Amino acid sequence: MKRSFLLFNFFILLIIILSSCKQDENSDSTDVKNALSPLEENSGSTDVETAFSPKGIPAGSNTTYNINLKMNSSEIFEVEANIDIVNDSKDTWNELVFYLIPNIFSEKAPQALTIQEIKMDGEKVKYTLNEDTLKIQLKSGLVSNGETSVEILYDFTIPEKGLRFTKNNGNFYLAQFYPMLATYRNHRWNKEEYRFQGETYHTDFSDFYVTYHLPEGYTLVSTSPNDSYPSSTQGTLQASQVKEFFIAILQNPSVIEKEVNDTTIRIFGFDQEKELIQEITELAADALTYFEKTIGLYPHDQLDIILDGMSMEYPGVVTAHSINDIALDPDPLKSTILHELAHQWFYGVISNDPYHEAWLDEGFAGFATGLYAYSRPNKTVPYENLYKMIERLKPLPVNLSLDEYDSSAYIYDKTNVMLWKLFEKRGGLEEAERFLKTYYDEYLFKEVNSQEFIKFTKNYFNLKDDSVFDEWLK
Ligand SMILES: [Zn+2]
Repeated sequence: MKRSFLLFNFFILLIIILSSCKQDENSDSTDVKNALSPLEENSGSTDVETAFSPKGIPAGSNTTYNINLKMNSSEIFEVEANIDIVNDSKDTWNELVFYLIPNIFSEKAPQALTIQEIKMDGEKVKYTLNEDTLKIQLKSGLVSNGETSVEILYDFTIPEKGLRFTKNNGNFYLAQFYPMLATYRNHRWNKEEYRFQGETYHTDFSDFYVTYHLPEGYTLVSTSPNDSYPSSTQGTLQASQVKEFFIAILQNPSVIEKEVNDTTIRIFGFDQEKELIQEITELAADALTYFEKTIGLYPHDQLDIILDGMSMEYPGVVTAHSINDIALDPDPLKSTILHELAHQWFYGVISNDPYHEAWLDEGFAGFATGLYAYSRPNKTVPYENLYKMIERLKPLPVNLSLDEYDSSAYIYDKTNVMLWKLFEKRGGLEEAERFLKTYYDEYLFKEVNSQEFIKFTKNYFNLKDDSVFDEWLK
């Protein structure tokens, strides 16, 4: 997600970038991409001591989603979700806990979300739905490593003024539209209350099988690489090892496609000037090339950028047009796209809990965007200006939960600055690039938290104590 008061800083970065934007066609990531398999996680890095072993935070639950989505001509959506679940924790579960975010917007939507029925093993089961929390009672406990599946039938409409889950300019944005199983840790379901600021849902990497039916006149864009443009009105979509599955149903976009290495970038424009859409295409291609070369492989075959709605990242898809309902001018729009694009690595590949550890994706997205800007020829990292960004902040750490802050400046700005500070006297930009590549190699498709980041960083720099983290990590 992007936040408005970052715009000034990104605008400065963008000037640096655009003044020396030249695409590097010589990325060496192509072969690696062909070899990437979700099952083959990192094979260890040569940049850190061989004794170091990264440890991802276990999700506690393991889920596969089979979703059948039908939209009718009255704009009512019917969903049949079959969800296969494995208890990956050591506890026995007596209930299952899901996020069902469309219910948050029921009062605003033309027709509220309605659950028709929930079945397990062919029998109806009891459930409760409060706000975005769906709890399903289990008739008998699900033991550690036990498997079960749940069938949930429901329908909904989409409000004009939702948040991510919204209808905008005749386009439908189905963000978090299905029941998403929460993670399970510390002997409890890790499900917090919905908030309108920040991302309050945390899910594990999962596989998705989605079938859809649409009325005539729409085209579908999704997390899956199977959605060619223009899409047919019905089809099957699949995505492996993604944190969530996003669908946009669009009317009459103007589309530019560009091949970069072996990724197809698709820009879906609406009322923008053709020249701007072309500039965005070139910028996205340049940034994708840089991030793949510097950090690591982009994990999808397709990168879709939709120039409509709220600025936000989803696996394989970025939406960018407005912040707080205010349309962005071309330069802030471009800088926002860079930020959301960086999330494909920090959120999309390296996971973190966005409620309790939001700094790990928001701060790193800002940091990676800075790397891109400062890596242009003859540019250096403006450390003094960076420090000015956080001068007025209270002495709070960056790794508190969302409900503990009254400003997101800690998560975004202070993290970004403190990450740069690590490198000011430890190798600067080049070392920062090496650091991110090593971090990516170690934590590809894993979840990181503050402790794991500290462990990694201490090992990377061979630090003897935790003093470099005192100012910013609790
Ligand atoms: Zn963000």
